[in-house]
Amino acid sequence: MNDCLFCKIVAKEIPAEIVYETGRTLAFRDINPQAPTHVLVVPKQHHADAAALASADDGLADDVLKTAHAIAVQEGVAPAGYRVVFNTGPAAGQTVFHVHAHVLGGRDLNWPPG
Ligand code: IMP
Repeated sequence: MNDCLFCKIVAKEIPAEIVYETGRTLAFRDINPQAPTHVLVVPKQHHADAAALASADDGLADDVLKTAHAIAVQEGVAPAGYRVVFNTGPAAGQTVFHVHAHVLGGRDLNWPPG
């Protein structure tokens, strides 16, 4: 999509600190990190939100989740624990409408979230 920020990052038209890449996913550091590890995982194919990703019938949601776990291992936060979050819709705080998993770790995370 022409006006999608994360599509532009996928296309390498906008710089990002890319930490992991597969054929169908890209992971890059959040520009405003909320934890020592805060990485965003996106499918390279545009889907607006997690509901749309779940409807993609080709295993793409699996790929995003597998990449999220690979990030946690790569970042060294998997043994202690980490969080994978899909803010879905405005009431949940979604601001960028290209689905992305937040991978958060490296500190104790509170529950419930705000
Ligand atoms: P959301 O609120 O769940 O949609 O998350 C969007 C995330 O994208 C926020 O955590 C932002 O800090 C992050 N973000 C916005 N622009 C950029 C960017 O250009 N590079 C990396 N992260 C970004």
